[in-house]
This record gives sequence, structure tokens and C-alpha cells, in this order.
Amino acid sequence: MDLVAYADVAPASGETVQGREFRQIPGGKGANQAVAAAMAGADVTFIGAVGDDAFGTQLRSNLVDTGVEVSGLRMEPGASGVAHIVVDGHGSNSIIVIPGANGTVTGLEEDDLPLLRGSAALLLQLELPMEGVVAAARAGRAAGVPTVLTPAPARPLPGELLDSVDLIVPNQHEAAAITGEDDPERALAALLELVPEAIITLGADGSIHGRRGEEPTRVAAVQVTAVDTTAAGDTFCGAFVVARAEGRSPRAALEFAATAAALSVQRHGASSSMPTRAEIDAA
Ligand code: AMP
Repeated sequence: MDLVAYADVAPASGETVQGREFRQIPGGKGANQAVAAAMAGADVTFIGAVGDDAFGTQLRSNLVDTGVEVSGLRMEPGASGVAHIVVDGHGSNSIIVIPGANGTVTGLEEDDLPLLRGSAALLLQLELPMEGVVAAARAGRAAGVPTVLTPAPARPLPGELLDSVDLIVPNQHEAAAITGEDDPERALAALLELVPEAIITLGADGSIHGRRGEEPTRVAAVQVTAVDTTAAGDTFCGAFVVARAEGRSPRAALEFAATAAALSVQRHGASSSMPTRAEIDAA
């Protein structure tokens, strides 16, 4: 759950300031990608954990309301994962993330395996303990399910994770952190030495996609006036995977994803800003 306080000036240590607005926004990269994929037309099952607090109930309802199947969502004793965010008058933010129940997801349960089998894709992010992410990636590989990793928040990526990843989708900053290359084309080439397929999202500059042994494909962003780019990357990733699973070419899937993300940046919020399939098709 994102707890966002907006103030003209962020408080210094020991200081109390008056804020302008408070918003409570269902978030989490995994939940955001699940909602994005469901709204883009996929049958989505979420595996993860919330706490047995009020946030847990709300986070679960947010998934259910957008059509995400939650039989793999566990409710653990204690607090749900929370991001405590301060946004100042310049739009700069500082964030404390408290993993809460997310910290309990250190592996898959027996009951999760049937949810994986037969899936068109497994989407993974790094807001869980690394051992849980590695276990899921391995289970996906063993089940023959293409595994897609958004390496965010940026963390060192162990080889045992990369060995089970089919597609990696970092933004430009994450790609630079992983490869040491600021130039997107060089970063893409470096990523393709780690995994067979990669996309780097470049904000308003679009995205670049590559597969080993092929020429990279670059797709521009849709020109729109952005009001809030929160979860643009998650919208993009969820929509891209849906389009690929439907058999579209990489270029067509990148265009579908860019269209979905451009719709989301024109609205405030995270999952609440994501477009429906009808809206993406119409755009
Ligand atoms: P990012 O995570 O910022 O790299 O953004 C992910 C994707 O969202 C990009 O590849 C674009 O397709 C889209 N996007 C992000 N920012 C904008 C923007 N200002 N205008 C249009 N599309 C955007």
C-alpha cells in the first residue's frame, strides 16, 4: 500500500511540517503488473502475500475488483507491505519501503505449482526476498513457462536467477545499474549476454527490444501530455506480455504496450490509472 503525503517542503530531521494532501494508493510492482495484464485482457493469477491488517483486505479487494484471481495470495499475520512516500512541492519524493508480509514470500507453496502450469507467462519483480524470486523463476522454467523479470527495485541479480529468466524488462536506470552502460543500445547488448531477450523502457523516449542474434527494435512513446507516470513501466510490461502471449510480433507488442502506458500516464494513480483492453484497442 502506498501512503503518500504531499507537502510544499519535505520535513528535515526533527521537523514537523504541514502537508497539503494525503493519498492511500494500492501499489506494489507485482500487484500493478497483475492488474495491468488483467485489464489488458489476460487471465491472471497472483501469487504473494498481504498482512492480516486493514491494508491486506484492501489490497486483496483491489486485485479481485480488477479480475485478478487470488487463490495464491496468502494472508500472513502482521502488517502488509507499505511504501511511505513524501512528495514535495517540486514533485521530488523520498520513500521508505517496509516489506511486511512481502518478506515472508521465500518460496512457492505446493498449491502454487498448478497455478503456474499451462500459464503463458510468469511475471516476476524484486519486491520479495531474492530466494522467493529465484524459487519462482526456477519453478516457471521447470514448468516450461516463459519467465519475465522486471529488475526493480534495482538489486544485484544472482546468476541462479538470470539462468531461469527468458525476458528482462528494466527501465533505463535499472539497465545502467545492471550493466554499467548508460547508452541504451550498449546496455541492451550487455543484457543479452545475461538473458535471451530484453526490453529497456526509456520513459517518454519509448523502448528498445532485442533478442540474441537479431537487430534491436526501437519503438517511440505515444506523444501525450503526462500528468503522472507512476506505474507506467508496470502497465507497459503487463500489456507487452499479454500481446506476446496472443501471438503478436515483438514490434506489434511494443506498440500495444506503449499505447497502454501512454493512456496510464494521462491519469493519476497506479492501478487506478491503467486502461482497459477496450481503451487500448480504441487508442
Ligand atoms: P518508464 O518506466 O518511465 O521507462 O516508462 C515505461 C513506458 O511508459 C515507456 O516505454 C513509454 O512507452 C511509456 N511512457 C512513460 N512516460 C511517458 C510519457 N511521458 N509519455 C508517453 N509515454 C510514456
